Amino acid sequence: MSDRMHVLQGAMAQLGLNRLPQSLINGQLTDGSSTDITLIDPYTKASICTYADAGVELARLACNAAKESQVVWAKHMSAAVRGQVMQDISRAVLDQAEPLAIIEAIIAGKPIRDCRVEVAKVAEMFAYYAGWADKLHGEVIPVPSGHLNYTQREPLGVVFQITPWNAPIFTAGWQIAPAIATGNGVVIKPSELTPVTTVALVKLAEDAGLPKGLVNVLCGLGPTAGQAAIEHEAVRKVVFVGSPQTGRLVASAAAANLKPCVLELGGKSANIVFADANLEHACLGAQAAIFSAAGQSCVAGSRLLVQQSIHDQFVDMLARGMDKINLGDPLNDATEVGPISNARQFDHVTRMIGLAKNEGATIHSRPEVDDSGYFIAPTLLNNLPNSASPAQQEIFGPVVTAIPFADEADAIALANDTHFGLAGAVWTADVGRAHRMAEAVRAGTFWINSYKAIHVSSPFGGSLNSGFGRSSGTDALMEYTSAKSVWLDSAPTPRIAFGYVP
Ligand code: NAD
Repeated sequence: MSDRMHVLQGAMAQLGLNRLPQSLINGQLTDGSSTDITLIDPYTKASICTYADAGVELARLACNAAKESQVVWAKHMSAAVRGQVMQDISRAVLDQAEPLAIIEAIIAGKPIRDCRVEVAKVAEMFAYYAGWADKLHGEVIPVPSGHLNYTQREPLGVVFQITPWNAPIFTAGWQIAPAIATGNGVVIKPSELTPVTTVALVKLAEDAGLPKGLVNVLCGLGPTAGQAAIEHEAVRKVVFVGSPQTGRLVASAAAANLKPCVLELGGKSANIVFADANLEHACLGAQAAIFSAAGQSCVAGSRLLVQQSIHDQFVDMLARGMDKINLGDPLNDATEVGPISNARQFDHVTRMIGLAKNEGATIHSRPEVDDSGYFIAPTLLNNLPNSASPAQQEIFGPVVTAIPFADEADAIALANDTHFGLAGAVWTADVGRAHRMAEAVRAGTFWINSYKAIHVSSPFGGSLNSGFGRSSGTDALMEYTSAKSVWLDSAPTPRIAFGYVP
């Protein structure tokens, strides 16, 4: 066994996990019995292990367990106690941060320094929503009839969450924390390519006091385990994080069962640099926007709009900066950018670069990359119009298309000329312009002289092909609850006849 596999198994053993990925159903680590799935180390292309898809039967058991446990969690434990358990989970995640980060770095191929930050953010998510657990108040509404009318926010019951491979533990914490803070049970299906840290997180949570069965993890495939969970009668909402293509399938399956969805999908975000910006800061920002996480980020600044008068100068600065980015082993502290996370994504990014060549792009990239892993060097595409495929389709890799613009109106038109609506940014010294751009660009998140700043307390989501609904902050509390309106008649004689419901 290689050193890397020793390190991986050591980290898994530290978290009480067996060698192969197993689903976590009602507190039990459980093997699947359906199709084989092989995990590949993206840094070496070596096989890590083969495990069996959870399949339809484990999905049924997971939903049943969540249904039963949710009643105890929501009705028989006080909100304050639920918050306390979540604080304990937050501490447990911090205590085990290093093995969690190591597993993520090896299986997802993400630099260990990014993994450490993401694990710390997961702890922060549980602490943040722990604070909300006993602060979900309804309202008293002064209705004209004189009834006492008040609202309560109620948990939905069981929610089903589907997550992608690009930030597995981060996305799991992001969705599980608000769901349980509001009294729901959860079934979560991480990507079949990166399931282990989600299982580890939930196991840690159970060891810290989370009732067994409240959160269940399905290690397996979308069309089998995922579809079965969407259809299960206990599931009241589906929260999907992933590609627009799969999002459409999931939303259709949910709609066929009359279940609501949140869809957190892809993007093609515009990072807009005006001539009056601090160009050094903007250049560092542009690099972080697209090259961190090897561009495998939904909010990646993949379209770099640069004002005509500084376009060539800025693109030169970017090219010099990106050539210095440190590509390498995800386990190495010095690595800034790791490999592409899996073979399918590597093929897609490679194909998109080929397409850019065919469409006439000038390409800047370093020639030498380590082909023992799924590496793609930071790549800059020039001389392409905004209408070209590489500027319109999500590449989800370290590839940026630079596009010149004339003025504000032109920048806004280009920024909004996309089927996505997830994020965007502007770099300028003019405060008024910054506000005008923030208002005009279609995006759920917009940065001014910054990129990729996010926090669990601030809402996140998109429109059009980037999805709908919101995660994070108090918006997530609304997504994971429904309002009940209660009417109490205090009149001396009943006023039933005055009631009016169309
Ligand atoms: P994907 O759509 O291929 O897979 C996402 C999840 O859906 C996986 O768990 C997969 O197993 C599951 N799935 C596949 N088919 C299914 C089916 N028929 N029914 C139910 N589930 C099914 O996405 P990916 O390649 O894993 O992730 C990359 C995508 O995710 C990119 O488009 C990226 O922009 C997006 N993303 C969005 C956000 C956001 O917050 N907006 C965050 C991270 C990633």
